[in-house]
Amino acid sequence: MPFTSLGLSKEISRAVAEKGYTEPTPIQQQAIPAALAGNDVLAGAQTGSGKTAGFTLPILHLLSDKSIKGPSEGRPPIRALILVPTRELAQQVEESIIDYGQYLKLNSMVMIGGVSINPQIQRLRSRVDILVATPGRLLDHVGQNTVDLSQIRLLVLDEADRMLDMGFIRDIKKIMALLPQKRQTMLFSATFSPEIKAMASEFLNNPAIIETSAPNSAAARITHKVHPVETSQKRMLLAHLIKEHSWYQVLVFTRTKHGANRLADYLEDQGIPALAIHGNKSQATRTRTLAQFKDGSLQVLVATDIAARGLDIIDLPHVVNYELPNVPEDYVHRIGRTGRAGKTGDAVSLVAADEFKLQQAIERVLKMKLEVEIVPGFEAKNIPRASQTPPRKQNNNARKVVSQDIKSEQSKFSPKPNSLRSMLKANGEKKLGTVEKNKEHNEQMRKSINRKPHTAALFSSPTRNKNK
Ligand code: AMP
Repeated sequence: MPFTSLGLSKEISRAVAEKGYTEPTPIQQQAIPAALAGNDVLAGAQTGSGKTAGFTLPILHLLSDKSIKGPSEGRPPIRALILVPTRELAQQVEESIIDYGQYLKLNSMVMIGGVSINPQIQRLRSRVDILVATPGRLLDHVGQNTVDLSQIRLLVLDEADRMLDMGFIRDIKKIMALLPQKRQTMLFSATFSPEIKAMASEFLNNPAIIETSAPNSAAARITHKVHPVETSQKRMLLAHLIKEHSWYQVLVFTRTKHGANRLADYLEDQGIPALAIHGNKSQATRTRTLAQFKDGSLQVLVATDIAARGLDIIDLPHVVNYELPNVPEDYVHRIGRTGRAGKTGDAVSLVAADEFKLQQAIERVLKMKLEVEIVPGFEAKNIPRASQTPPRKQNNNARKVVSQDIKSEQSKFSPKPNSLRSMLKANGEKKLGTVEKNKEHNEQMRKSINRKPHTAALFSSPTRNKNK
């Protein structure tokens, strides 16, 4: 399907073509027409699926279209609000808006914490069409009466699951209360927990429900590898792997901020340029570090989960789990940094004996065994038996690319009984395809809602319906 068939304006299509995109990704194929038609959208989308363009392109189109153009006289108000969990993601979303909107006369602004509020107050005195904000700083502005949200017509809740994980639900509810009832809302989330469904039920009105059959299938072509190792040997092994394989642009995850600092220092001592990025670093440092990493001048970035969320680094070849995450879903988020936009990538985990249970939990979520490879010279003494399974036979010269198929992608999205897909399936549909199909599904779902009280909450929005 060519981009031109989506109905986007020629200015936007031109900017997209200049980015080198030839075809819309599955999420874009569905989300863009649904949003252009004025629907609320509830979308299951991982980072790496192309979701950002899935909501920024229709926003740009709608705002430059007469329907939401704003008053003909005077300065137009802020008409689109994009709420995101992290500062880095906010900056990346705005970069996309600038890129895709380069031939339009629309202005965007990033509103994030960790930097002085005064330049933001200053900026708000001039025209802002699209505001990309993290919830805390937006509420600071609300408290100081420096932002007017009363004319918001388009709202995006991006990475809604992560916003809930980070404890933003109260802030989001406060912000929602300030927005006009008459608006179009799009909610993007990688997973669909009961909390996300409750949120969708409360904030969305009759949404187009979008879940692509394999959100990352083209993008997530990732080799997973586990190296069993003693905890005390991990840093030596990491330095060895980086040097041995001449890895560049390596994103390493640690569990703690101190651990990240210590590891970055050690790698530096070993002659490997490395910096840490985490919540204790100032926003300016985080932005600078990320820029160095993106332009290739910094070889290794050591990050905690929260800091790394939303990093959009094109063609990131190596992700290393220096420690496995406590929550298996975080493994999925972490490896979402590599193998993006059709590229391949390596996800390497250094696993000590006491992390084996975490490895098993990850394997259950992914529905596949991770390949285990012992690195000579770094053998762990207490490797649990089960993790010693020899790796599957393969041609050593060939990169083993594990294409994450629908099964593992489904498990990424949500546990079985709660996934949108399984709810739709329960209503007699096998696979989601086009938006038209979705409409049909949604209709079926709505009809069946009367019979299925537990799913009804997700698809009806009593509060907003009343007011709309
Ligand atoms: P996202 O999931 O929005 O973070 O996007 C992941 C990456 O895919 C970004 O680097 C985008 O620039 C890239 N991307 C988005 N849409 C497309 C497309 N249609 N074709 C190729 N790459 C894309």
